[in-house]
Amino acid sequence: MGLLASAETQFPRNLLTAIFPEDCRVCGDPLTEFQSIPVCARCLSAPRPFLADYACHRCGTPFLHESSLDDDGCCRLCRGGRRGFDACFAYGDYSGELRQLIHILKYEGVASLAKPLASLMLRGLPRDVALDAVAAVPMHWWKRYRRGFNQAELLATEVSRATGLPRLSLLRRARWMAAQAGLGSAERRRNATAAFSLMPRRTLSGRRILLVDDVFTTGATAMACARLLKQGGASYVAVLTIARVDRRAPAPLYQAEPRDD
Ligand SMILES: [Zn+2]
Ligand SMILES: [Zn+2]
Repeated sequence: MGLLASAETQFPRNLLTAIFPEDCRVCGDPLTEFQSIPVCARCLSAPRPFLADYACHRCGTPFLHESSLDDDGCCRLCRGGRRGFDACFAYGDYSGELRQLIHILKYEGVASLAKPLASLMLRGLPRDVALDAVAAVPMHWWKRYRRGFNQAELLATEVSRATGLPRLSLLRRARWMAAQAGLGSAERRRNATAAFSLMPRRTLSGRRILLVDDVFTTGATAMACARLLKQGGASYVAVLTIARVDRRAPAPLYQAEPRDD
């Protein structure tokens, strides 16, 4: 009886999944209509903008106390001129649905998520920032080959389409970055700097570049890329990501991430 009942309830469901192939990859609810993105509208619209009472005016890093910022609203790293980039924008906090959506794009290879995630990311970009071109944070060729795509390139392409700014291939990842875990911040920066190089014969004289990546974590990657773009002649580099890691949270709340460098 139990078997029969389950077979009966399973049948229409199987038929449905043959036509509408998936459940929402975030919440697991069945999708009610055919769509190229296997995520329901509710989960797609769930991510909220990043909120912080105190955040660095230049890099956007949030702080618990105003005392971490100087009179110009800059954090210690920006004050020392060690960031390399001129501004950093992100839409939301790297947690909850937003984190899940980014994982589905990156690790489950759902490239159709690049477009909605790029439009979220563009909501984090102020309208009055003057820019000339978009560039993606590059991935090592072997990793790109294995994954089949670089999510930062997919996002940069969507940003280019939406803004009309040309997307340029300016950087390459010269080598696999050694594991960052356990390294001090200075070592992390050295490690990241050695991993990238500027494409040969690229001159960026005075250009204002929007550097696109999926997540802003420590800023080491963005800083290394921005420095190279400046060395290549760029006059301004702004970093744009979908999400940033909020380091105000106590350490036990950090979730393990698949290794990604
Ligand atoms: Zn959902
Ligand atoms: Zn800062």
